[in-house]
Amino acid sequence: MPDDAVTMEKIVSLCKRRGFVFQSSEIYGGLASTYDYGHYGVLLKSNVKAEWWRSVVQERDDTVALDAAILMHPRTWEASGHLEGFTDPLVQCLGKCKRRWREDHLREDTPEGELKCPECGGDLSEPRNFNLMFETHMGPVQDEGSQVFLRPETAQGIFVNFKNVMQFARKRPPFGIAQVGKAFRNEITPGNFVFRTREFEQMEIEFFVPPDDAVEWHGRWMEDRMRWYTDLGMRSDHLQLRKHGEDELSHYSSATSDIEYLFPMGWSELEGIANRGDFDLTQHAKFSREKLEYVDPGSGERFVPHVIEPSAGADRGTLAFMVDAYDEEEIEGRERVVLRFHPRLAPVKVAVLPLMNKEGQPEKAREVYTDLRKRMPAEFDTGGSIGKRYRRQDEIGTPWGVTVDHQTMEDDTVTLRDRDSLDQSRIAIADLGEELERRLAAPWTSPKTG
Ligand code: ATP
Repeated sequence: MPDDAVTMEKIVSLCKRRGFVFQSSEIYGGLASTYDYGHYGVLLKSNVKAEWWRSVVQERDDTVALDAAILMHPRTWEASGHLEGFTDPLVQCLGKCKRRWREDHLREDTPEGELKCPECGGDLSEPRNFNLMFETHMGPVQDEGSQVFLRPETAQGIFVNFKNVMQFARKRPPFGIAQVGKAFRNEITPGNFVFRTREFEQMEIEFFVPPDDAVEWHGRWMEDRMRWYTDLGMRSDHLQLRKHGEDELSHYSSATSDIEYLFPMGWSELEGIANRGDFDLTQHAKFSREKLEYVDPGSGERFVPHVIEPSAGADRGTLAFMVDAYDEEEIEGRERVVLRFHPRLAPVKVAVLPLMNKEGQPEKAREVYTDLRKRMPAEFDTGGSIGKRYRRQDEIGTPWGVTVDHQTMEDDTVTLRDRDSLDQSRIAIADLGEELERRLAAPWTSPKTG
């Protein structure tokens, strides 16, 4: 089990207190397991997504970006197998509480024998396959012909665009298409805050390769994706790669490994990396009657590329980065809660605080802030004692604090405070922007490591 003092309750309460994430539709009593992201939550999740784009597109020359529509032609879901097979086995308590459960989850704790309701001990119904796709209608008439689905994954938007993209991007396998977007699943048992919700964001890559190279590329992507998390400061002893057993594999996959994080509730999936073979392109070719293959212009050789799919959750990732960053410590008899984010993930990079609300300090601090915010997300705060203002910044994970004080008014220097070491150094205002940019670009290791 996780070794730290961090619990999901603490994360939920910090998220609410500081406006990262809160219950959706709260004034109406909330809508079960849907959440809204407030200011700092939006900035944090945007940074997670931006780092993903940076790593999978900007810093490579074999992937391109795509943003496909959420609503897709209904045949898509026949071809992909979702209409038929995207189901979870649902059982309902026949006893007192009538709660619904996923049978496969209950089996994890009771591999053999009869299952009972974990809540009240009642008998359970026979399992029934429950399709997780949300259904809606397009146009004014609600009949079978107008039925469409909210996509349960972003991946299919990539497969149906394979041909388009390959032509426009002038790519040949091995190459990949990357996409970030919302997906919807009518989960039977959502829970653990934003870990499992019915509306969430995915960050997916479909990487198309010559069939003979699929195993090698699967290995490379597992390494690359693990490194992404650790490069962003996630502790490596809280990350693991778990290979799916034969009985766990989806119908299309010849091998899948999950990147798992040690959440407060135990090891849980962050990202799945699957070798999907030629299943998707073959299916869509069959249903659309389009040829979805690669033809070498020189040799005329043709093949249906195999697909490696690294599929990550933006909300789950954001939650994991929060859990990993959460820390409590006592400083001079006072407890402080601090989010030790990698500076590139931190919602705000620098806070500029006047020590006192007089002697021109607030005006000077505002000048420094106005200058800095052109370079990076910055905040200016005059409300409350300096200690209180720093505690607020610590709780949102701001890596650096700049204090404008009496001496600033004499020599144009400020104090620069480091969130983790609490070191304070004196620096000329003229050098501040460059110094912070240098720190932002430097490699970083979590002080919680070890
Ligand atoms: P699980 O076993 O947790 O239901 P899955 O194996 O069905 O997940 P995939 O279909 O592989 O998930 O989806 C890829 C990624 O999308 C997951 O690793 C996760 O990060 C994210 N994801 C999937 N379902 C949800 C959800 N209900 N809420 C939040 N994120 C999700």
